[in-house]
Amino acid sequence: MPRIPAPDAPVAASAIPSLDRLLRDPALGPLLEAHGHTRVAAILRGHLDALRGLALAGRLEAPAVAPAALADAVAQTLLVQSRSRLRPVWNLTGTVLHTNLGRAVLPDASVQAVVEAMTAPVALEFDLERGARGDRDTLVEDLLCELTGAEAATVVNNNAAAVLLMLNSLANRKEVIVSRGELVEIGGAFRIPDIMKRAGSRLVEVGTTNRTHPADYADSIGERTAMLMKVHCSNYAIEGFTASVDTQALAAIAREHDLPLGVDLGSGSLIDPARWGLPAEPTVRDTLAAGADVVTFSGDKLLGGPQAGLIVGRADLIKKIRRNQLKRALRVGKLTLAALEPVLALYRSPELLPERLTTLRLMLRRPTAMRAQAARLLPVLQQALGEDWDLCTASTSSQIGSGAMPVEALPSLAIVLRHQGKGSSGRALSGLARRLRELPRPVIGRVADDALWLDLRCLEEHDEAAFTRQLQELRA
Ligand SMILES: *Cc1c(COP(=O)(O)O)cnc(C)c1O
Repeated sequence: MPRIPAPDAPVAASAIPSLDRLLRDPALGPLLEAHGHTRVAAILRGHLDALRGLALAGRLEAPAVAPAALADAVAQTLLVQSRSRLRPVWNLTGTVLHTNLGRAVLPDASVQAVVEAMTAPVALEFDLERGARGDRDTLVEDLLCELTGAEAATVVNNNAAAVLLMLNSLANRKEVIVSRGELVEIGGAFRIPDIMKRAGSRLVEVGTTNRTHPADYADSIGERTAMLMKVHCSNYAIEGFTASVDTQALAAIAREHDLPLGVDLGSGSLIDPARWGLPAEPTVRDTLAAGADVVTFSGDKLLGGPQAGLIVGRADLIKKIRRNQLKRALRVGKLTLAALEPVLALYRSPELLPERLTTLRLMLRRPTAMRAQAARLLPVLQQALGEDWDLCTASTSSQIGSGAMPVEALPSLAIVLRHQGKGSSGRALSGLARRLRELPRPVIGRVADDALWLDLRCLEEHDEAAFTRQLQELRA
């Protein structure tokens, strides 16, 4: 009689079934059907190797070699592998336009347009009126001109590309004059001096960090000057004893010397957010009206659209920019254009923006709504986290982010989680932050003052049920 080992007695490597036998076992059938032979076999091979390692160490137990157990293990690996790396998260950081979390969340109209552009051929470079080859730029050019008062417009991959292309098209091997107070660095290695170098332009710095005067520009203009440039101080503010030359005054100097004025507006909005009680921002239209010849700005900052760099301005200059070979390398794809067009179209109806433009809706959420929401969420969270955690709500301030309005903040509300169990609170906090990140849709908060802060600004009511549903998994 063969000896049957006790369930927890170690078994030898010879007890491990062969790959071939397992692939024919009915337990693996559904996985083979769903994922194909190659992938299932590869995963299975890995598991069998691991079992052999266990057997050599004398730690392999009989239940682990059952086909059903191996099928479960393979299914688990498949599940982990099939989770998208770019998966949706809950942004409870309090920063609405969080660059690391993909900046603007797009409005429904864009989502629909992108799905259509993905699933059917589109007239990307096809003039439907003439039945001839068209230009992808024209798809949004009219809208951009209408909304900004520009003569012409073009679109590239992002604002960094827009600045690079503007400089390379208008000032290759020439000098560009910029104030020392505006030599910005934007997160992720975008520095005006470096971009200049890459564009082939020579940077001529004028003025000082805190003060630049009209004469500083005028005195630096020479034979090799190709343009004057102004950069919006997106992510910082210079305060105190300061002076800068505004767009209108700078445009006058540029005109006097027959030079173009380029302005990198960064977040450039199409409507002054002050209209809704948010901190004021210069608009693209005002900047052009003040005399800028070319203005560049981002599609996914205050505008609330997809990643893109928008370039608007004088027709002759835009034409030069468009003809640059680099433009071909920096152009946007159809999905970007599909997403961008409805966003721009929304700006034709400013009264509807607070409701329909997702990012603006988030910026305008009221603390009273968040307070009601916190009252609903608090007991659910408390139950999921248990007695080790003390929960309360606290006023906080969220940020618009991505360099928009760096100094001013939006009054907001957070649920604050403090450890009150045994052990180090720092370790408990990072542990909790990790558990939240491991949820099917990870929750991203912010650790400050020995607590984990979940800012409710970006958790809209219509998403609340989905948010609370997965909190059950924290307990497990
Ligand atoms: C954000 C920003 C950029 C870069 O824009 P992206 O769209 O992120 O490439 C460039 N200049 C200024 C002033 C900015 O604020």
